[in-house]
This record gives sequence, structure tokens and C-alpha cells, in this order.
Amino acid sequence: MEGHAQFEPDEQRTIREQVARGEKPVCPRDGTPMTVRSIGGGSFGLGYARRREWLICPTCRRSLIFDLKRGTRN
Ligand SMILES: [Zn+2]
Repeated sequence: MEGHAQFEPDEQRTIREQVARGEKPVCPRDGTPMTVRSIGGGSFGLGYARRREWLICPTCRRSLIFDLKRGTRN
């Protein structure tokens, strides 16, 4: 059992690029569409608008926390 495996840095970048292009992310390991869960910050309506999404591959069970920053690109 691997527990909560991580993606390699190159794989994380691939996923981030998919999301940045507005595509549905697929796992770079096995091509499975990834499950997206929103992690609510509970701060809507406040100046501090930050959302996180948790991308999970249901096949290999690797996951990636993805920070969404509104109106900011880097
Ligand atoms: Zn996978």
C-alpha cells in the first residue's frame, strides 16, 4: 500500500496546465479523468477570496491540492 502518493513535479505541472487552459484534468499516469473536490475556504464575500481544489485520480489514487487565485496569474 502506497498511502497517499504524490505526483511527480512534472506531472503536477501537466495537470496545472490542463486546468489553466480550462480543460478537465486527466491523470498523466493513466489518462483517467480526475475527480475534483472543492475545499471551501468559507470566506466568500470577504476580500480574501481564495479557493482550493483537490484533484484526485480514482485509478492510481494520487492527488494534488490546487490553489485557485482569482484574477491572478503567475
Ligand atoms: Zn492516475
